[in-house]
Amino acid sequence: MDEVRPRLFMSRCLGFEHCRWNGEVINDEFIRQLEPFVDIIHECPEMAIGLGCPRDPVRVVRDGDTMELLQPATGRRFGPVMRSWAEAYCRNLEAPDGFILKSRSPSCGFKDVKVYASFAPESGSKPGAGIFGAEVVRVFEGIPIEDEGRLRNFTIREHFLGAVWTLARFRAVKKKGTMGALVDFHASHKYFLLLHNQKEMRLMGSIVANLDKKPLAEVFSQYEAELKKALASPPKYTSLINVVQHTFGGFSESLSKEERALFINLIEQYRDERIPASVLLQLVRSWAVRFGEDYLLKQVLFQPYPLSLVEITDSGKGRSY
Ligand code: SF4
Repeated sequence: MDEVRPRLFMSRCLGFEHCRWNGEVINDEFIRQLEPFVDIIHECPEMAIGLGCPRDPVRVVRDGDTMELLQPATGRRFGPVMRSWAEAYCRNLEAPDGFILKSRSPSCGFKDVKVYASFAPESGSKPGAGIFGAEVVRVFEGIPIEDEGRLRNFTIREHFLGAVWTLARFRAVKKKGTMGALVDFHASHKYFLLLHNQKEMRLMGSIVANLDKKPLAEVFSQYEAELKKALASPPKYTSLINVVQHTFGGFSESLSKEERALFINLIEQYRDERIPASVLLQLVRSWAVRFGEDYLLKQVLFQPYPLSLVEITDSGKGRSY
C-alpha cells in the first residue's frame, strides 16, 4: 500500500498554543511523536468564541434537556454561542481520519467531563461530554475519537492508530475511485479486518464482489459504512490468536517440529500476557518471507501504521490485541 498521511484534528492546547484557561499548554509526548507522520488541524473552541486567555474557567451544567456552559466566577452562560459555533465548525470541517481531544474539558472533552446537575455552586456531577466534544461525536460517527488521557492506554492507542491509518488509506482509495483500487484495499486489509470483526469483513467482501452490479459510488459508500463499523472496537486478544493460527495453517506442514513447537509455545505466552502481539505477528511474517507467501506479505495486519510508531505502542506491557 502507498504511504499515507492521516489528517487528525487536535485540541489546540495539546501542544500548539498556550490557550488553556490559565494560559498553559499541555505537552503530550505521544502527540509530539505523531506529528511527523500526520497532517494536523487544531482549534480552540473557547478562544474561537472569544473567551480570551487567561480566562475564568467554565463548566458544563445540565439545564433541562440541554447543556449550559457556565462561567461560575462571572455567572455568564456560553452554551448557545458555543453550540452554534461547534455546529458550524463541524459542518464545515472536511472529515479528518481521527480526533484527539483534550480530556475532561467542558468544551473539548468527549467523555468523562464533569456535567453538573444544577447551577448551584455545590452541585454534584456525573460524567458526560463537553459541548464541542458532543458535537464531534454526533457529526463524525464512525471516525476514531479519543482524548490524550485515554491514549496513554496501550490497547486504546494501538486500536486508535490502526483505525486512523486504515481510514486514511481508504480515503486515498476513494480518491482513486476505481473498483480495482477497492478490491486491492480489501485484499490487503483482509486479515486486519478479520482481526477486528469477522462478520463485517465477510460482509465487506460481498460488497466488493458486487454481484448486484450496483453503481460504484454506492459500493464505496456501503463499504465505507461497514469499514467504520468493523473498526469501531478494539480486537479481542483471542481474535489475534485465531488470525495467526489461520495464517500459520498455510505453511505449518513446511515447518520443522521445533518451529511448530515454538509457535505453540509463543501463543501460550501471548495468552498469558508475557509477550506482545508483535512477537507472534513478526514470526508469522518471517515464515511468509521464507515461503514466498506474497498474499500474506501484502497484509497490513503486519504493519497497520508506520514502524516508527510501533515502539511507542508496543511496550509489551498490558494487553494489546
Ligand atoms: S480544551 Fe479545548 S477549549 Fe479548552 S483550551 Fe484546550 S482547545 Fe481550548
